Amino acid sequence: MKLDHLGVAVTDLERAAAAWNVLGLQTAHVEEVPRDQVRVAFVPFAGGRLELLQPTAETSPVARFLARRGEGIHHVAFAVTGLADLLARLKAAGVRLIDEAPRPGAEGTAVAFLHPSATGGVLVELVERPTSA
Ligand code: ZN
Repeated sequence: MKLDHLGVAVTDLERAAAAWNVLGLQTAHVEEVPRDQVRVAFVPFAGGRLELLQPTAETSPVARFLARRGEGIHHVAFAVTGLADLLARLKAAGVRLIDEAPRPGAEGTAVAFLHPSATGGVLVELVERPTSA
């Protein structure tokens, strides 16, 4: 698995993007993901990207994360191929999954989250790009 991105929960997408901009990292893409009730900004760096996540509703999982823990790293995402098969293998191995089947993510990807209890408290996202399918 290759690192795809680090998800970072933020309260203000533009302010967070500007802070990374000072370090020389430019926002490449901004998108709303209604299903997850977030606006996301992707900020590429060598070898990966930051995914800044700002909730658009109080019921957003990211809003709940911010209320509990404040701003910071929210999840680690790895690029995979054959996501549906991988999830089936993980489930069979007893790994606790949040998503048992791939679902739509940003930029036309298919994504699934593993439960943090499966990975020592780290929320892990698996991402399959349309081109890698
Ligand atoms: Zn993500």
